[in-house]
Amino acid sequence: MRVSKSFIPTLKEIPQEAEIPSHQLMLRAGLMRKVASGIYEYLPLAHRSLIKIMNIIRQEMEMVGAQEVLLPILTPAELWLKTGRWQKYGKELMRVQDRHSRDFALGPTHEEVITDLVQSELKSYKQLPLNLFQIATKFRDEVRPRFGVMRSREFIMKDGYSFDVDEIEAEKTYWKMVEAYKRIFKRCGLFCSPVEADSGLIGGNFSHEFMVMAETGEAAVAFCKSCDYSANLETAKSIPTVSLINEIRPACKVPTPNYKSVSEVSNFLKVSANQIIKTLIYVTEGDPIAVIIRGDHEVNETKLQNYLKVFELKLASHEEVEKITHMPMGFVGPVGLKDIRIIGDLVLKEGHGYIAGGAEPDVHWTYLEIGRDFPTPEWADIRNVVTGEACVGCSQPLNVGRGIEVGQTFKLGKRYSTPMHCVFLSKSGVEEEVTMGCYGIGVSRTLAAAIEQHYDEFGICWPIAIAPYQIHLLLLSPNDAEAVRLAEMIYDQCVEKKIEVLYDDRLEASVGFKFKDADLIGLPISVRIGSKSVKEGIVEIKIRRNPQVMKVPIAQFFENLIDLLQEEWKRCEP
Ligand code: ATP
Ligand code: MG
Repeated sequence: MRVSKSFIPTLKEIPQEAEIPSHQLMLRAGLMRKVASGIYEYLPLAHRSLIKIMNIIRQEMEMVGAQEVLLPILTPAELWLKTGRWQKYGKELMRVQDRHSRDFALGPTHEEVITDLVQSELKSYKQLPLNLFQIATKFRDEVRPRFGVMRSREFIMKDGYSFDVDEIEAEKTYWKMVEAYKRIFKRCGLFCSPVEADSGLIGGNFSHEFMVMAETGEAAVAFCKSCDYSANLETAKSIPTVSLINEIRPACKVPTPNYKSVSEVSNFLKVSANQIIKTLIYVTEGDPIAVIIRGDHEVNETKLQNYLKVFELKLASHEEVEKITHMPMGFVGPVGLKDIRIIGDLVLKEGHGYIAGGAEPDVHWTYLEIGRDFPTPEWADIRNVVTGEACVGCSQPLNVGRGIEVGQTFKLGKRYSTPMHCVFLSKSGVEEEVTMGCYGIGVSRTLAAAIEQHYDEFGICWPIAIAPYQIHLLLLSPNDAEAVRLAEMIYDQCVEKKIEVLYDDRLEASVGFKFKDADLIGLPISVRIGSKSVKEGIVEIKIRRNPQVMKVPIAQFFENLIDLLQEEWKRCEP
């Protein structure tokens, strides 16, 4: 492709709305433009990369026996009502009505649609296993669309669904898919690993998320450097390091004038935060609940939600807290809490002599004993793991870092086959429900994550497998006939040899401008041709991710180029 004829609107300035490098670079390098909040247009460069990612996915899916289908975006409400997700999905589900006032959803994921399809065709165990996938646009009305296509409202997803005769076969399929996912991301040039995950709204038995570790990631991941334990913070477990043994004494109230928060109270009473019990009130779609947790710990709302089996969970407002507890905000504590279910974080169980809100203004209790001074709560693991706590796998200290979730696999079991009656006749002639798995990859998010992992101060540094083009050919002296002749010759030969080349043949652009654009767009290899190189009989080659410029005699140019391309490809080998 000749740059003079292309549609690559690069920008000099960093667009204000873009907070993270991949978002900034996707706008600056002319990969995409915004239409509305969370809705983007992919321009030719991005489109070429997306197609490459999709083709890698297609190849790997075929290798594990999955077949591609294309399901509708517009999905009837009846299907969602069958599984209860018409209600559960809440506002994230984009709903529309047709002219007959029938309800539809723009598909955010397709478990219902595919299970309905398979259900209508499945008769015998002989038709199983079945593994189907699609690559299509998905819609989710995200509360906070941000970071460009990392979290958008319309995005491209590969979603796959497997159907097996029983748990054992389903599990085999699951692990095959996990392996395929590892290959896909490696082939896309991403450093990415599966971590244990919560099944969320999709539901099911167990799940892994494929995380690209990056500072700008929205997910928190606990991982161990000594063994292979890693998990999304939403589900991560640890062995807490401090087990608190204080003196056992009669409880007594102490004045804490206007000291409300954990840090205020711990400073005032000169105690550490782990001696304090925090009491939090949550509202749900059912009754409100109280949570008690150590002052230095944070409630993990996913764990709490899973434990309570509720769909809505929100911290109560000041007014709600006072109405529910009959205690002043900031002084709520477990002593005297009535008519409310209390969940206690497991870590509190072993401790003694706690401090907690005094149930009246400006007072806290000290030397509290659980079970003696207030009823023993329901115990559950409902807190976030903290860096430095011991790993459940090997007792070494855990780390907590940030990651971008590019894919997720779920072992669904019968979560969808039961409500949708997706059954088959088994070998012994008995009707059985099919066992399912589902597997998603955010295709557009993968593109952004690849940039997030491969860029420098000048621009993108594409992994070759998903680079829009492999070579950026720069004509530096467009007024020198010899230079033009050489550049044109190299361009033609690249095209002939099927080496994907973007040829900056612009007459009006300065050398500096061409270099800047090449760095910004970040194709793996640039080839520079100017009057000087023609005179010397050499061509300059530069690998985008290295600073050095190589000078290669024209006669050996293609041989060298092909070697360099192969080196780049090696970096994307699974
Ligand atoms: P997240 O936790 O980031 O909201 P999710 O767990 O809800 O994602 P899944 O239902 O697992 O997402 O969807 C499969 C994949 O689709 C995700 O792993 C992610 O890569 C991608 N994805 C999900 N939501 C978005 C979005 N709003 N924008 C871009 N990609 C998305
Ligand atoms: Mg997910």
